[in-house]
Amino acid sequence: MDLEDRLAPVLEVAGAAAVEVDATGAFPDAAVAALRDSGLLGLTLPEEDGGLGGGPEDLVTALSSVAAVCGSTAMIYLMHVTASMAIAAAPPPGRPGLLARLAGGTLATLALSEAGSRSHFWAPVSQATAADGGVHLKADKSWVTSAGHAGLYVVSTLAPAGQGEGASDLYVVDAGADGVSVAGPFRGLGLRGNDSGPMTFDLIVPGGDRLGDAGGGFDLKIQAVMPWFNLGNAAVSLGLAQAAVDAAVRHASRSRFQHTGDRLADLPTIRAQLARCALDLASTRAYVEVAARSVAAPDDRTMLHVLGVKAAANDAALRITDTAMRVCGGAAFSEHLQLERFFRDARAGHVMAPTADVLYDFYGKAITGLPLF
Ligand SMILES: Cc1cc2nc3c(=O)[nH]c(=O)nc-3n(C[C@H](O)[C@H](O)[C@H](O)COP(=O)(O)OP(=O)(O)OC[C@H]3O[C@@H](n4cnc5c(N)ncnc54)[C@H](O)[C@@H]3O)c2cc1C
Repeated sequence: MDLEDRLAPVLEVAGAAAVEVDATGAFPDAAVAALRDSGLLGLTLPEEDGGLGGGPEDLVTALSSVAAVCGSTAMIYLMHVTASMAIAAAPPPGRPGLLARLAGGTLATLALSEAGSRSHFWAPVSQATAADGGVHLKADKSWVTSAGHAGLYVVSTLAPAGQGEGASDLYVVDAGADGVSVAGPFRGLGLRGNDSGPMTFDLIVPGGDRLGDAGGGFDLKIQAVMPWFNLGNAAVSLGLAQAAVDAAVRHASRSRFQHTGDRLADLPTIRAQLARCALDLASTRAYVEVAARSVAAPDDRTMLHVLGVKAAANDAALRITDTAMRVCGGAAFSEHLQLERFFRDARAGHVMAPTADVLYDFYGKAITGLPLF
């Protein structure tokens, strides 16, 4: 697989549409089509299922590159990959060939968050019940990236009675099924094209559409969803931070005070702030690479990296985009540098569940010998 060759047309198409996508909030259909055409929707899926057999390090490269041109496209891509990897970890027995569908172009996403349990994505409050012909899913989801655009949703609910207090399940649900609807629009501060709207699910699904064992949803969310999501979300933060540093360096190197002839970058304060951003970015990149290698070849520190990498990269992106805005002054406030887009887009990673604050708490628990839950 030549990742760079596959990425090139995606970056071109996503980059060309990014300003318009941000300005109008339009879903980046052309960029998603380019991901599909390049085979990258199957990047991390096994080759025997039509995927490219790539690993966590490939995913970091792909997501950070896409985020640097269009954050909305990168987040849509991340949710697809994470949903796909959850399905790959525990393929629903009633859906043979599903991985090939995902690798072949069906866009997937995760419908986990609910207003009732807010960012605690591991604890749905919606309740599934046993029904004739399967399981009745009845769930209000508060945020679903690619709502109304994805072909397949991975939906969480509390398990039907008998699986124990708080046990949950994950099911695959086709977009076209009766009882699947988008409940409202998405008008976000950033990632404006990713249509992370609310959705309702009220339908009976066959038991064979469940991922993994009955009541196994919690373990799947922690063991299969979280590693890919946290690493990929960190990669999106990295790409946005890289784009901000590049824009700020470019602007400071070219912009002049006509009355003195000096460039912005001739001011020591500006140079020092750029240096701090660049070093923050370099150390964050190094840590994301460490985490990616650890997810690729798991050992007893892998879960610690999974907890740490998203929080570290989310916060770095906030610091870096904030400083880049400051360095570029009023020019950053207007849209011609696109810095304010990277600044707004970077806000989302931090609040996406598991939120950075929750992850710091979990990380602290892990290093002091406390159970996470
Ligand atoms: C752009 C975008 C796309 C999204 N896409 C999806 C998607 O595709 N699928 C999906 O399921 N969800 C998605 N989400 C939802 C996301 O994962 C979170 O569930 C959501 O952002 C939480 O918002 P909230 O207001 O409920 O946060 P709250 O839970 O109310 O959090 C408020 C604050 O409290 C902090 N906090 C909460 N609990 C703790 C704790 N235990 N310890 C320390 N601090 C804590 C949080 O860190 C945060 O700072 C998306 C969100 C955004 C912004």
